[in-house]
Amino acid sequence: MRLNPQNTSPSSVGKLIFTTSTDPFTRGLDYLYGVRSLALDAEMIDVVYDLENRKSLCVWICEHIDAVNQELEECLQACHDCFHPWEQPTIQIFAAPIAQSFGIDALCNLQTNPITILIDVGRVVPADWLRLVVHEYAHAHVGSPGHHQQFARSLSHLCLGLGIAPPPLQPGMESYLRFYPDCRPTQNPLAFWRGESGTANED
Ligand SMILES: [Zn+2]
Repeated sequence: MRLNPQNTSPSSVGKLIFTTSTDPFTRGLDYLYGVRSLALDAEMIDVVYDLENRKSLCVWICEHIDAVNQELEECLQACHDCFHPWEQPTIQIFAAPIAQSFGIDALCNLQTNPITILIDVGRVVPADWLRLVVHEYAHAHVGSPGHHQQFARSLSHLCLGLGIAPPPLQPGMESYLRFYPDCRPTQNPLAFWRGESGTANED
């Protein structure tokens, strides 16, 4: 799926690319600035300053991000389907390379309207993207960044609906829930974003 600036059909990328440029680098960079504006902290998307990597990343984003975001949309829909329509929060979801220094694979920004979920698809194997979405969706559903009882209930509900083992409810569960459900990490988070991952991770 290639980006076509003349294409007026709504796509997740269309929402974030405002330039009329047809240059792949410019369009990819525009996407990165778009997700920066939706992050909890703009510095979470620091690759815009990475002069060594950003050119190849931006070109890859321009050519592939629509397909990646479509997969994330499907994960989001799977989460929605676990709840009644009136219980479903309004959420937008985008793939974004998140700076290593923040130590996170994904985030949920409750301050934007709609709520924004950003997923660093380079950090975990594609088969586990849904697990990242499930965790962030639970935050959106509860409307809180905390990992307390209410979050645990939403997360368990999603896990049961999607065939993922629900978290064991135990003392000290907040620190445990922070990283639940667990995901298989990739070796090099930026490799995916440079188009170097191939299918090696899709086991
Ligand atoms: Zn969390």
